[in-house]
Amino acid sequence: MGAARLVGVAGEVEPIRAFVALGSNLGDRAANLNAAIERLLEAGVDVVRVSRFYENPAVGGPAGSPDFLNAVAEVRTTLEPHALLDRLLAVEAELGRVRTVRWAPRTIDLDIILYADRVIQSPRLTVPHPQMHLREFVLAPLAEIAPEAVHPVLKATAREMLDELKSNARPGLPNPTLSPKQ
Ligand code: AMP
Repeated sequence: MGAARLVGVAGEVEPIRAFVALGSNLGDRAANLNAAIERLLEAGVDVVRVSRFYENPAVGGPAGSPDFLNAVAEVRTTLEPHALLDRLLAVEAELGRVRTVRWAPRTIDLDIILYADRVIQSPRLTVPHPQMHLREFVLAPLAEIAPEAVHPVLKATAREMLDELKSNARPGLPNPTLSPKQ
């Protein structure tokens, strides 16, 4: 499984570029996003750039769900994809417990949307994130910080995917025009 890692002249593993989508619709949403970024840095995930925070209506949740605040972070990491996922899940669990005495909806959602140019399909992880090209709340912040980032299956850049999504937008329907290109 997976491509060989890039190894530098001194034998060290070279960091790759990945993108993490962040979302929060509970509590102090901006503070939750900032706390997640802080925790990722503390966990050794090198966050090099973060988009602005975008406000979006909740998609697919129960009626009346509060609006989300969304962002995308560019990270440099030597962690393998599943190890990166484990760090994200740990940060989610840590922040989800903040200020709660009983089970409560999570205050933060973290997804790996791109991991270098890797295509990963395992029981725990699908990368690129299967919905990313259909979600303006992912593509808008991604196109802000990395318009040239390429979806390795669709062979389209973040900017192209966003333009395509906007030009074909039909409320509530997935975008049928983007399909994997050879
Ligand atoms: P959710 O809470 O709906 O975001 O789902 C979280 C679960 O989705 C995680 O426990 C992962 O095992 C799984 N998953 C699959 N692909 C991804 C991805 N690209 N990024 C984050 N989680 C993923």
